[in-house]
Amino acid sequence: MRYITLPEDIETKIFVLDSGAITETPAVLKKAFNNCKVIIIADGNTWQAAGERVSELCKESGIEQYPPILLPAEPKPHPDYALSQSIAEKLPADCVPVAVGSGVINDLVKCASAIKNLRYLCVATACSVDGYTASGGAMSVDNQKKTVPCPAPYALIADTEVLQTAPAEMMASGYADLMSKVTGGADWIIADELGIEPIAPAIWSLVQDDLRDNLSDHTNLEKIFLGLAATGYSMQMYHDSRPASGAEHLCSHVWEMEHLQLNGEEISHGFKVGIGLLAIARLQEFVINTPLEKAKLMVQIPPTVDERKAEIDELLIKGCYGSAIAPLAMEKTPFNEDMTQRREKIFASWQNLQQRLSQQLIPSEQLEKMLLTAHAPTEFEQIGLTFEQYIHGIKTAQLIRKRYTILDMLYEAGLLDAALAVLR
Ligand SMILES: [Zn+2]
Repeated sequence: MRYITLPEDIETKIFVLDSGAITETPAVLKKAFNNCKVIIIADGNTWQAAGERVSELCKESGIEQYPPILLPAEPKPHPDYALSQSIAEKLPADCVPVAVGSGVINDLVKCASAIKNLRYLCVATACSVDGYTASGGAMSVDNQKKTVPCPAPYALIADTEVLQTAPAEMMASGYADLMSKVTGGADWIIADELGIEPIAPAIWSLVQDDLRDNLSDHTNLEKIFLGLAATGYSMQMYHDSRPASGAEHLCSHVWEMEHLQLNGEEISHGFKVGIGLLAIARLQEFVINTPLEKAKLMVQIPPTVDERKAEIDELLIKGCYGSAIAPLAMEKTPFNEDMTQRREKIFASWQNLQQRLSQQLIPSEQLEKMLLTAHAPTEFEQIGLTFEQYIHGIKTAQLIRKRYTILDMLYEAGLLDAALAVLR
């Protein structure tokens, strides 16, 4: 059985990734959890996909079990913190929670286990997200999307035979999420080059070194899962999602806060990220393709404090983004002398940026082909956006986090509108 070597000093201590890995569950439980009594948490779908089998395997190996906590298959469970709290209430103090599922079940159990101060095991059922091995759960708390701090799973089992049975859409979504490390990495390069957030080389390597190889075949679930898992540990080590997420994720967060739907169905994380990453790659290419002297001719005059405030209020007019965003967006905007200095720095670094970005980026045309081949959306309409919502989402993405990305660089350079014109 293939045990993956993990970086030291992360919360996840055991990771089995193999065909038939599920049969290793009893051995992992005995080795890592001192034979405690198991409680499986699954939904109707994931119980069928793997939960029942995990339960049988435990029984055959003489591992005691509490009755499972089964969530309904329909409507699909939501990553709602209140649901985590209610799961936590059902977890006995001496149990080992075993989350059997993909992103949502894992995040629910991650938070529930943290509430009860328990270590848990995750048995993955889809190659759909990078959150399996990340600390923190992506939750809605009182209707606001937040990352609730909580430890990553102590052990993770991913059986490629099980992953293979997940809906094709989930696999495509995971593949698109892994692709986002291309543009996310480019954003980190920008922050590094401008002296805002230096790259941490060991963590960078973990995500970026094998990225192109892991993306080379959208049907190779082992490689895609490995790539997604590596981004999870990188976030654990960096104590922030910077190594795994750039402006494409910020776009996705905006559309998520807007409760984007198509035909009454929510859009998966990876599909929103996929549309975001194509847009962001095109904006990064705008920098690569625009000569310095031409760029300088296109800049807009920086806004005054009042103009910026009005601009932000207009972008946030829907009011669904939480009250913290407007002050944050103002705080992160440089004005007057600070803005002049930032612009000088950007233009002094322009040619270095062009060179470093072209090394990092996969051309957007190729990214589009990769998404198409993986059966992920490539057009904003396919995730239920109008053109206005699409552009609005990208501009709003610049406001919602402190993380420095291509959007901040273009905004500060006075080039955001010129660059967005390439998306028209
Ligand atoms: Zn993601």
